[in-house]
Amino acid sequence: MTTHAPQTAPHTARSVTPSVTLPASLDEAVAALTEMPAAVPVAGGTDLMAAVNRGRLRPAGLVGLGRINEIRGWQYQDGHALLGAGLTHARMGRPDFAALIPALAAASRVAGPPQIRNAGTLGGNVVSAAPTGDSLPVLAALEADLVVVGPLGSRELPVSHLLAGRDMLAPGELVAFVRVPLLHAPQVFLKATGRTGPARATASVAVVLDPARRGVRCAVGAIAPMPLRPLEAEQWIASLIDWDGERGLAPEALTAFGEYVGAACVPDPQGDEPLPPGVLHLRRTVAALARRALGRALS
Ligand SMILES: Cc1cc2nc3c(=O)[nH]c(=O)nc-3n(C[C@H](O)[C@H](O)[C@H](O)COP(=O)(O)OP(=O)(O)OC[C@H]3O[C@@H](n4cnc5c(N)ncnc54)[C@H](O)[C@@H]3O)c2cc1C
Repeated sequence: MTTHAPQTAPHTARSVTPSVTLPASLDEAVAALTEMPAAVPVAGGTDLMAAVNRGRLRPAGLVGLGRINEIRGWQYQDGHALLGAGLTHARMGRPDFAALIPALAAASRVAGPPQIRNAGTLGGNVVSAAPTGDSLPVLAALEADLVVVGPLGSRELPVSHLLAGRDMLAPGELVAFVRVPLLHAPQVFLKATGRTGPARATASVAVVLDPARRGVRCAVGAIAPMPLRPLEAEQWIASLIDWDGERGLAPEALTAFGEYVGAACVPDPQGDEPLPPGVLHLRRTVAALARRALGRALS
């Protein structure tokens, strides 16, 4: 006779409805998170609720950030824009924002389908830190900083530190603003996807000109856990630009820049092994994006 273990219900865990708090200010949000350390902040919910729906996250409480007006716009401060973490992709994609930070507007316009862009926020994109986060290479190229508020006050940290996991948010801390330098010069964001229509990037490139520092800054997204900066390629190409003149470059120089960026970000394997076809394709994609992005920025 075969015996069977007694059948149990597939989900025996007690389902608990999370408490939801809707603060109207950053101070109230920090207080709510401090009072209930097991609660998590939620902005647009496009990443967080997907994790909840997949059963990967079961927060005991939610602190909604959607009613905090002070983080839904931007202000000017010492040659910088202080962008509220609650700015949606849809808002950043509008022409007035594009006149301010063109590459971030371009990235926002392709960050998923319209319903995601209407809800998803800058702060959520940064804190989720997905390799395919479209704002991330732009913020890396702009060398943006985060303004974080928490129970001990506020502090600033480079976006790259958070993305590299070197400077994690402490309990009760929130990203309040992203501080971005206003460069008043062309900047371009380009994204490659595996298909037509809205999709996650297989590779993306942001190129930013910084005429005051006679610099070109470039960041490559989606091909590594965090955006990559090809610093030598940036310095080399910046040295070829006539910053006081036309700022144009010969097509050969643009092609060489693309190849430099591609080889720096998708390096050769160790030893004499040839690049596998998929990796070679990725390197060529990165090279093409970098060449085109710089060409558009200089044209
Ligand atoms: C179908 C689909 C397609 C998508 N396509 C793209 C795409 O093409 N490109 C792209 O970049 N992204 C894409 N996304 C991802 C997502 O929309 C973005 O990452 C979005 O910007 C997340 O913002 P949110 O406000 O929805 O974050 P939420 O989901 O609310 O939060 C995400 C995380 O950040 C934390 N958080 C949010 N705000 C703060 C804050 N101010 N301080 C501290 N922590 C905070 C939350 O606790 C959570 O851990 C897609 C998502 C979906 C579901």
